Amino acid sequence: MKTIHVSVVTPDGPVYEADVEMVSTRAQSGELGILPGHIPLVAPLEIGAVRLKKGGSTELVAVSGGFLEVRPDKVTILAQAAEQAEEIDVHRAEEAKRRAEQRLQGRQDDIDFKRAELALKRAINRIEVSQRKF
Ligand code: ATP
Repeated sequence: MKTIHVSVVTPDGPVYEADVEMVSTRAQSGELGILPGHIPLVAPLEIGAVRLKKGGSTELVAVSGGFLEVRPDKVTILAQAAEQAEEIDVHRAEEAKRRAEQRLQGRQDDIDFKRAELALKRAINRIEVSQRKF
């Protein structure tokens, strides 16, 4: 089985590194599925899940946006924050979700609103990744 090397890197260091059969995720331009030998590509990512198919199972990494760089033998994902599904603290994400929802109800200025919306998206994404909803 052909594989492609994947690294997920954040400012705190690498979060995931493995040779996988397929990488799939949602770019801002739409859903992306990357197999070994894919043409070079750079794409901005949404807050979402990266699915990594490896030896009959699929691993999930939650990413809070960032960039994907594809080369024929290597995929690099650079994200401000990323967590493997099993590393996610669900209680923390539930608290972050609750705080963001409260701030959205408060509806202060546009900047706070946008920040709260993004925090809510990150929290929901973490909860869904930890529940393997992808
Ligand atoms: P919080 O309000 O709980 O800090 P946040 O969305 O503001 O959530 P980020 O700024 O995206 O947090 O991330 C800060 C750091 O904390 C990153 O290293 C990220 O991987 C980690 N992190 C955030 N939430 C969780 C979580 N629920 N479980 C594990 N790690 C988390």
